[in-house]
Amino acid sequence: MKFDTIAAIATPIGTAGISVIRVSGDEAMEKVNLIFKGKDLTKVKSHTIHYGHILNEDGSILDEVMVSVFIAPKSFTKENVVEISTHGGVLITQKVLERVLDTGIKMAEPGEFSKRAYLNGRIDLVQAEAIMDLIHATNENAIKVANRALGRKTSDMIEKLKSKVLTMIAQIEVNIDYPEYDDAIVMSKEIIYPRVIGLIEEINDILVHSKKTQYIREGVKTVIVGRPNVGKSSLLNALLDEERAIVSDVEGTTRDTIDAYVNLGGITLQLIDTAGIRKTDDFVEKIGVERSKKALEQAELVLLVLDLSKNLTDLDKDLLEETKNYNRIIIGNKKDLPKKLEIETVVEISSLAKDGLENLEKEILRTLKLDKLNDKDFNYLSNVRHIQKLKEARTALESVVDGINMDMPVDLYAVDLTRAWNLLGEILGNANYGDLLTELFSKFCLGK
Ligand code: GDP
Ligand code: ZN
Repeated sequence: MKFDTIAAIATPIGTAGISVIRVSGDEAMEKVNLIFKGKDLTKVKSHTIHYGHILNEDGSILDEVMVSVFIAPKSFTKENVVEISTHGGVLITQKVLERVLDTGIKMAEPGEFSKRAYLNGRIDLVQAEAIMDLIHATNENAIKVANRALGRKTSDMIEKLKSKVLTMIAQIEVNIDYPEYDDAIVMSKEIIYPRVIGLIEEINDILVHSKKTQYIREGVKTVIVGRPNVGKSSLLNALLDEERAIVSDVEGTTRDTIDAYVNLGGITLQLIDTAGIRKTDDFVEKIGVERSKKALEQAELVLLVLDLSKNLTDLDKDLLEETKNYNRIIIGNKKDLPKKLEIETVVEISSLAKDGLENLEKEILRTLKLDKLNDKDFNYLSNVRHIQKLKEARTALESVVDGINMDMPVDLYAVDLTRAWNLLGEILGNANYGDLLTELFSKFCLGK
């Protein structure tokens, strides 16, 4: 593809030792040459660095620079690329960029370099998204997940599924087009059926593992519920003390929800302390209760706190019922007091005496299946868009199964299989959908 030659400052704005201005496009060397005093950049070898000066309009020296040259297609964008390392001041960097733009080179839009790398086939969409994740990563696990995706671990997994689907489509087509062709494998329902089931199972397996990858990358929304005074706030504080909060954000009234982040063996828990979900006529309390219900709707883990020193109340029973379908840990708090509670809890703790918290933390990781992290757990999908597409592909495959169960003719399966293949392709971006691209790449920083 042919695009204009573009430029942008590729390093963060601010005072630093050096700043890098990246130029990409057919005319990169030719244009930069016009303002560069040093070697003739159109004559140098690829992957070489050259000392020289960027000149003002009147021919005087603006800055002393190092210029790196990458000749297409061996560059990040697969285009000719020139990177100018200038002195790091805000003003000088800006001035050099202005000189670059004076030559007729266009200012790049945010994410445009990565977009070109993708459009020129240097990287797929999953990798482009990984670059963005890498830039925005806030913890080491997130960096590791992004790097795996950038290294094509995720893409390869999807490509493999895609090629399995394609094989089936191709074989069905052969049967349709050349029914008399002996060597063609007869794609009878008996053959397709187990293959499609196998593929659905494979996708299910990926989705299960992806849940872990998502937890690793994004953290786990954890909601603490329990009736008033069982010790929810005390538990939150104890966990914060123990693990040191990354961010602690207390807002609103005492009946508001409170958010805090704790780091549990590399996994971030986003803790939400709720006001206790119960029926109430009090207006302010009602708001709190509504918030708690909202929090619960999004919960990926529920910590249900009961008071070991009291009998089970109706409200406790309501909460036990309300949270039964969640990833849930039933915590008996106040184990330092004489025990009255008659039901079995998963862990007993004392938030006040900070007793039993280690057990609780182990139980949390176990419940989320994050206690034994496998190196592979970093390879799966953590991007909501990818997961959504994969689920849609699974639905298309399930239509094939339905078709077989309803005894539909074989050639109709090719339609659903093609749909599945396209959906998998959309994950990698080898399908046509301009709107998504524009939106995606605009989230990039300028110069990336
Ligand atoms: P919440 O309404 O569920 O948030 O409960 P709080 O955390 O505010 O605690 C209610 C009361 O129980 C406070 O007086 C706490 O000091 C007390 N409490 C909390 N945890 C424990 C514990 O483990 N043992 C004892 N003895 N008291 C506790
Ligand atoms: Zn509280």
